[in-house]
Amino acid sequence: LSSKLDQAFQKLKGEAKITDVNIAETVREIRRALLDADVNFEVAKQFTNDIKDRAMGEDVLTAVNPGQQFTKIVHDELTKILGQDRVGLSVADTPPTVILIAGLQGSGKTTFSAKLARYLKQENNRSPILAAADVYRPAAINQLKTLADSIDVPVYSIGQKDAVRVAKEAVSMAKSLALDTVIIDTAGRMHVDKKMMKEVADIKEAVQPNETLFIVDSMTGQDAVNTAKEFNETINYDGVVLTKLDGDTRGGAALSIKNVVQKPIKFVSTGEKLDALSPFYPERMSQRILGMGDVVSLVEKAQKEFDEKEAQELQKKIKSDSFDLEDFYEQLQQVKKMGDLSDLVGMIPGAGQALQDADIDDESFKPIEAIICSMTPEEKQNPDILNATRKRRIAKGSGTRVSDINDLIKQFEQMKKMMKSFSGMGKMGKLMQGMK
Ligand code: GDP
Ligand code: MG
Repeated sequence: LSSKLDQAFQKLKGEAKITDVNIAETVREIRRALLDADVNFEVAKQFTNDIKDRAMGEDVLTAVNPGQQFTKIVHDELTKILGQDRVGLSVADTPPTVILIAGLQGSGKTTFSAKLARYLKQENNRSPILAAADVYRPAAINQLKTLADSIDVPVYSIGQKDAVRVAKEAVSMAKSLALDTVIIDTAGRMHVDKKMMKEVADIKEAVQPNETLFIVDSMTGQDAVNTAKEFNETINYDGVVLTKLDGDTRGGAALSIKNVVQKPIKFVSTGEKLDALSPFYPERMSQRILGMGDVVSLVEKAQKEFDEKEAQELQKKIKSDSFDLEDFYEQLQQVKKMGDLSDLVGMIPGAGQALQDADIDDESFKPIEAIICSMTPEEKQNPDILNATRKRRIAKGSGTRVSDINDLIKQFEQMKKMMKSFSGMGKMGKLMQGMK
């Protein structure tokens, strides 16, 4: 689960928890939504069960019910699974980069090949050439040529000759014309068949593509899983392209395929026009598959309010002077997680100088942590009681010097003063929120 949510859940004690009973209806609803979206039955079942097991016992935000919260968890998890290893296309060290396109007949290979050529040319300034390696039907070659003409991209074709030869010669052609990308459009059959698979595998072997993409029609729903699996076993592709997402389909194939072959989805194709191509956005896809956007945004809103409440609590602590070394330590941990400190300092109005004077940098964290860890709870709450004896004990325990402890106390007091001096929480409040 998103660690942010995770933390939030743990902090809000005493509220409703997610239980088998209070999310039973939601689990059914979500499973139905997934099935409606054409997610493979087994995948849908396993996916919801996994998340249910992990979500069990989680605390629920005050403003929502357990079912709603569970829906949000499912959404986040779905997004994570879909986008886990989001990667772009590989590029060859020495051009040309070779991209092999494979998939069933009618899945949208030829259309996608042209779309990709257009995309790489326009968005990435590349100079592609298309290879007409679907050699069985003259119409297929003409289709590619027509599409290529419309985007002003050259096509390598030698008519109905050997597909492997077409692919190899297209690569040589690219080299001699100094074109940096070869996109090889191949033949598909209606169903997975040995001859077709062998041909694609032979092409792959012959040209050693940098990227092999499996094209799948998202309308094929349940069948998509088997096709994706079989293609993967033969050609071990690098990524998946989902086509025809402009139709009614909710795209459940994305989750099924991801689950079965563990390959990233790289593009989605959303129409017959050549500009109807987009990189894959996991968040959009999970929204589409789940179709429960309202609930998701409701929980997000509750989450945000919860964050604000947390920040207010911190503010209250500062105001009432109960901000102690324990809190200080926690804040340091949060700050550390955020990376570059100098950036952070810049975000606090007027505080840049104060923090620099306090000399907080990454290196100074280590002794600070050691010192605070060597203190008793009482000392952390009330550093005023730190006399010479106590300081010597702490210095010994933390491997520091008494002067380090004095510095820390000074730093802590400065920070406290600085925090107190902010009237409203303003940017600091946001900063604290970001720290979680
Ligand atoms: P191939 O046999 O795999 O090369 O598939 P084609 O590229 O020839 O596409 C088959 C049909 O699907 C053609 O009529 C395309 O215009 C159409 N097509 C391809 N991609 C999309 C898409 O994303 N959306 C829609 N609506 N149609 C598409
Ligand atoms: Mg084709």
